[in-house]
Amino acid sequence: MSFYVTTPIYYVNGEPHLGHAYSTIAADILARHHRQRSDDVFFLTGTDEHGEPVAQQAEAEGVTPRELGDRLAPRFKEMARKINASNDFFIRTTDEGHMERVQKIVQRVHDNGHVYEGMYEGWYCPRCADFKTESEVGPDNTCLIHKTPLTREKQKNWFFKLSAFQADLERLYEERPDFVIPEFRRNEALSFIKQGLQDVSLSRPTLKWGVPVPWDTDQVIYVWFDALLNYYTALGYGIEGEDVTKKFWPPFHILAKDILKFHAVYWPAFLMAADIEVPRRMFIHGYLLMEGHKMSKSLGNVLDPDKVIEQFGADALRFYCFREVSFGQDGQISPAGFESRYETELADQYGNLANRVLSMIGRYRDGEIPDADAEAELAADFNGAVDRVLGLLDAAELTQALEEIWRLVRRLNQYVEETKPWELSKDESSAGRLDAVLYGLAEGLRVTTLLLHAYMPETTARLLDALGESGRELAEFGSRGGGQSLGELAPLFPKLQTA
Ligand SMILES: [Zn+2]
Repeated sequence: MSFYVTTPIYYVNGEPHLGHAYSTIAADILARHHRQRSDDVFFLTGTDEHGEPVAQQAEAEGVTPRELGDRLAPRFKEMARKINASNDFFIRTTDEGHMERVQKIVQRVHDNGHVYEGMYEGWYCPRCADFKTESEVGPDNTCLIHKTPLTREKQKNWFFKLSAFQADLERLYEERPDFVIPEFRRNEALSFIKQGLQDVSLSRPTLKWGVPVPWDTDQVIYVWFDALLNYYTALGYGIEGEDVTKKFWPPFHILAKDILKFHAVYWPAFLMAADIEVPRRMFIHGYLLMEGHKMSKSLGNVLDPDKVIEQFGADALRFYCFREVSFGQDGQISPAGFESRYETELADQYGNLANRVLSMIGRYRDGEIPDADAEAELAADFNGAVDRVLGLLDAAELTQALEEIWRLVRRLNQYVEETKPWELSKDESSAGRLDAVLYGLAEGLRVTTLLLHAYMPETTARLLDALGESGRELAEFGSRGGGQSLGELAPLFPKLQTA
C-alpha cells in the first residue's frame, strides 16, 4: 500500500506559528502511523511563495518577494524540523520543477477547452488572495476571515469554467461521502456547490509575481491554482531523478477550514479539467483558539511553540494539540491547560507507568521480562485495540484514536493497582501469577507505546528501546514472548520544577 499525505503550503508573508505547526503535526502523525503499517509513505509540506499576500508583505518590508521567500522559507523548514516532522520533501512554489509543471497542466486545462478570456468585477481580499462571493462579504464590505476592507476589482482575466463541473462535483460528493471529512465540512462544501458555481479567475493581469500564463505571458497564474498544484508537481521532482506520481497519487490532504472552498470545490474540478484523478480524501480541521480568537498573526494572541518545545520537548506539544482539542473542531488551548495535561497525563499516567513497570521487573525479576502468558482479563481489554486505532486514523480522527490509546494507559495503571505486584512479590507461591502480571504489563506497555509512537516519536522510541523492542511496526497484544532484558530509562516526562 502507498500513502501520500500533505499539509497546506504556507504563505511566506510572516513567521511560522502554532497554527502552521498544528497542520504539520497532524500530517506527520498520519505519515508516521502509515510507516508503522509498513505502507510506502510520501509526506509533503512546503511554502506558497507567489501571489498578493507575499507581494504585499514584501513591498511593506521594502524587499523583493523572492528575498522575502528566501528569508522565510527556511524558517518554515526549521519549524518542521523542531516539531519532528518527517516530511519526505519540502516544496517551494518558486522551484523551477514546480513552475514548469504548473504551466504544463494549466496549458492542458486550456487545451481541453476549460479556459476563456473575460472581464471580472467583484470584491477582493488581498490577504486571502480571493474574490468573495456575496455570502462571504462581511459588514461594510470586509473580509469575514481577516476583518479588513475588501477592494473592488475589475480586471480582464483568463477564467476557469468551474461552472461546467457542477454536476461532476455533485456526483463526486454523492459517490464518495467521505471525500471530505468531517461530515459537517462535507456538507458545508456541498452546499457551496449546490448554490450554483460561478467561473473563477485563473490569472491575474496586474501582478507580476507568479507563474506566467503559458499562452499569455503578460499575466500570471492565479496563486491558488499555482499553490494547489504543488500537491501534484512535487511527486514529479521531489525525489531526485525519479517521478513517483504514479506510485503515490492520489493524496490525503490535511488542511484548515479557512481554505475549504479551494480544496473541496476548485481543486477537484481543476483536476478533472486536467484529466487527473481527484484526491483520495481531505480532512478539514479547526483552529486552536486562545481567548476566543483564531490563532493567527493578523489577530494576535500568538502562542510561540518554540518555548513549549524548549521546556517540555516536541512530543509534549504534539500530544497536547490533539489531546486538548478534538481534531476537526475549534477549541481553546492555554498554557495552564498544557501544564495540567503534562503533569497528570504525560508525567503521572504514562511516564510514571513506564518507570513503575520497568522498576518492578528490575526489582522482582532481575530486569528480565518474564516469559509467561498474560492474564485473560488484561488481554481482553487490549483485544481489537489496534484495529480500532487503525480505523480511526484512516479517517484522520487523531483525537479519538489518541483517546482509544489513552484508555489502554489508564487500564494498565488500574491493573497495577488491582494486582499489587509488590504484595505478590512477598509470597513465593504467587511467583507464577507475578510472572503473568509483569509480562502483561510489559507487553501492554509495548503495544500502547507502539500505538503512541506516531504521536510522540522521541519519548516512545526511548521507552521501546528500554523494553528491548527494536521494531516500530504495530503489534497485537501478546504477539511477543518474554525473555528480553530491560535497558535504562530516564524519566520520559520529568515533573515540572516548581522553585
Ligand atoms: Zn481575507
